[in-house]
Amino acid sequence: MGFLLVFIVFLVIAIFFLGKNVVRENNRKKIMKNPFPLEWENYLKENYTLFNKMPPELQHDMKNKIKFFLNEKNFFGCEGQEITDQIRVLIAAQACLLILNRETSYYPKLRSIFVYPTSYLAKRVSVNSGIVTEKFQVTLGESWGSGELVLAWDASVHGAKNMFDSRNVVYHEFAHQLDQEDGVADGAPILESRSSYASWARVLSQEFENLKRDKKRWRKTVMNKYGASNPAEFFAVASESFFEKPRQLKKKHPELYQELKHYYHTDPIGWMD
Ligand SMILES: [Zn+2]
Repeated sequence: MGFLLVFIVFLVIAIFFLGKNVVRENNRKKIMKNPFPLEWENYLKENYTLFNKMPPELQHDMKNKIKFFLNEKNFFGCEGQEITDQIRVLIAAQACLLILNRETSYYPKLRSIFVYPTSYLAKRVSVNSGIVTEKFQVTLGESWGSGELVLAWDASVHGAKNMFDSRNVVYHEFAHQLDQEDGVADGAPILESRSSYASWARVLSQEFENLKRDKKRWRKTVMNKYGASNPAEFFAVASESFFEKPRQLKKKHPELYQELKHYYHTDPIGWMD
């Protein structure tokens, strides 16, 4: 009797998840057939500099991914920010740059994107020797493993327009989101194969130490020195440089460039001409 009950419960759960997957797959097939709106494409051409540089097959992949991404994520405006198609498309495009050329589950943990008009005050809580301190910090974006991501719209627009300054808050926060997929923000996202982890850990930890050293010695660096804060920030900052300063990154940090090229399935150097 007990066994039968367990079996029935198991069957109900299996049918539930199977049904959910079938609905999602059918939904995705429908979305695939929908054309990418011309006004979205024109908006990207005018406002996302890197989009114009990308080869047509990657633009095609990005447009498809934007459709899926927008179908699955909810956008909310904060402090009076209105959510428009332009906001949704420009943020989605930059988010999808990080998942091109691969089968993906589109940031599976992420459900909601909160958009502020400009930088905002975020509460930071720290615990030191048992004493809890709360302070407010001016912030352009945040990513939470619990399924939320926050962005300042003006910084997101600036990031899309200026593709060479190694600063892009959308790449930064979505790199954190990739890092958080395995439940820990430690600078090690989920890699394709077990064998990839050893070289990832070796290269990224060495480069992180180098950035910390360069920061201490006030040396000029390709990557933003904020990456020296911790391994999670290092991965997010290195991702910004990979897409915005690929030549300099490859020249000064060839092994790091190789790891990121393998992880992101793209080689942005080819788009820079
Ligand atoms: Zn960060």
